Amino acid sequence: MEMPIPSQGVIARKARVVERLRQVLPDDAVISDERETRAYECDALTAYKCAPMVAVLPYTTQQVSDVLRICHEEGVPVVPRGSGTSLAGGALPTADCVILGVARMNDVIETDYANRIIKVQTGRTNLSVTGAVEEDGFFYAPDPSSQLACAIAGNIAMNSGGAHCLKYGVTTNNLMGVTMVLMDGEVIEVGGGYLDAGGLDLLGLICGSEGQLGVVTEATLRILHKPEGARPVLIGFDDNEVAGECVSDIIKAGVLPVAIEFMDR
Ligand SMILES: Cc1cc2nc3c(=O)[nH]c(=O)nc-3n(C[C@H](O)[C@H](O)[C@H](O)COP(=O)(O)OP(=O)(O)OC[C@H]3O[C@@H](n4cnc5c(N)ncnc54)[C@H](O)[C@@H]3O)c2cc1C
Repeated sequence: MEMPIPSQGVIARKARVVERLRQVLPDDAVISDERETRAYECDALTAYKCAPMVAVLPYTTQQVSDVLRICHEEGVPVVPRGSGTSLAGGALPTADCVILGVARMNDVIETDYANRIIKVQTGRTNLSVTGAVEEDGFFYAPDPSSQLACAIAGNIAMNSGGAHCLKYGVTTNNLMGVTMVLMDGEVIEVGGGYLDAGGLDLLGLICGSEGQLGVVTEATLRILHKPEGARPVLIGFDDNEVAGECVSDIIKAGVLPVAIEFMDR
């Protein structure tokens, strides 16, 4: 894998960049010590490692906007990061970059059962979105196997899915709206809390864009009633072909399981 060559000019300006970041963020939100930035040296693709120049952990959209504005003015590359469970190196830093982690932005902003939506800060983990609504009989369908750790931020950037997605679709089918900060610090709203929001449908472009268009800070997600009477069934097969045909037959028969997963050896 070829990564961009880090700019020595940017690295030479580290002290000034850190000072400017400290002016807009609380003390505990700027990590510039070389030993501590190592915690952000890779995602789940651990074959490639490089500590970032600085890591920041903002709490609000305004702080994200301030960070991006400063980095834009200073010519510093920014790598957004959720929980760092990407298997594709999406959150891999370069030595001249600022890692912008949203892990501390994990609040539920609004729950609206009448319209079956939840609005969260995107650092919230996937499983804890369901955790916020399950007592009331609801769940959030896209369920990557990493759901205990991965954040809605990364789910949106990677358009993630899991066993529920045959029936309910992947992230893009369950995302209603986002607040996103562009790389110059401008804050934009796309979509909203209801189906077919006005304006151009840009959500499909943002979902799956791997952090290249901006930093998503808030998301409005569709939540669903938990299916009644769902029961797990485990079926063993002698070979993959037969297992695949069985899945086709189930769907052809008009039965759409709430979740379905194939496990090989
Ligand atoms: C054990 C394991 C099992 C997994 N199972 C599945 C699975 O079943 N299905 C599946 O789809 N994936 C799976 N994954 C991959 C990974 O968990 C998902 O891609 C997940 O959505 C990544 O979320 P994250 O918060 O960890 O993102 P990160 O790894 O932090 O980042 C992923 C990408 O999103 C970008 N990004 C992060 N935050 C933002 C933001 N706020 N705004 C814009 N861009 C941002 C990053 O720059 C990067 O490009 C698995 C990974 C592991 C380790």
